[in-house]
Amino acid sequence: MRLLVIEDETALSEVIRAAFTDEKFEVDLAEDGETGYLLGSSGMYDAIILDGMLPEMDGYDVLRKWRQGQIHTPVLMLTARSELEDKLKGLGLGADDYLTKPFDMEELVARIRVITRRQGAVQIDYLELEDLRLNLDSGVIVNTETQQEVRLGKKEFQLLELFMRNSGQTLRREQIAEKLWGYDCEAEYNNVEVYISFTRRKLKYIESRVLIKAVRGIGYRLEKRND
Ligand code: CA
Repeated sequence: MRLLVIEDETALSEVIRAAFTDEKFEVDLAEDGETGYLLGSSGMYDAIILDGMLPEMDGYDVLRKWRQGQIHTPVLMLTARSELEDKLKGLGLGADDYLTKPFDMEELVARIRVITRRQGAVQIDYLELEDLRLNLDSGVIVNTETQQEVRLGKKEFQLLELFMRNSGQTLRREQIAEKLWGYDCEAEYNNVEVYISFTRRKLKYIESRVLIKAVRGIGYRLEKRND
């Protein structure tokens, strides 16, 4: 389960992150509405915790833009005690639930479990492209023709998942750095290259036809090998 927390009170978001990490969630944090909106627009999250009052773009605008853009990830909104109107507004905009601050962390975890279960869709536990299968539970990649397999490290897994969910698209280095490390920072660009090379080595090891191609001056793209 992957959770996005959009909250500008960093002390609170760190507590939320710790609580959900204990529950085996992968947690990403965003501190302002604009960043949160962009991350949530990837559609990669199983649930999103969204604060109402945020810098850059407030939580209600973020939610409105997602729903208009057909992003239907379950959203739980956090509201201040006095904002009764805001709660109603949030639900009207398509929030799945809300909690008033201050709240009990166990309550938050329980509510998130409910809204993620409510999705009801069959859980897809792998992604496939050509002869490549990525198991989302175990982080193992398999060549479905030869059954050769190898386990990916955590960052390699996140990297390949990002590519497979956006296959055919060229991803910019900055986009990848932001996805893997939570922010866009010059120092992480070299790391992107390092993990691309690790991941390439593993794709080669299982002799998959899928490869990560560098697109000069732009970034990287997942492609089928021509031979
Ligand atoms: Ca706030």
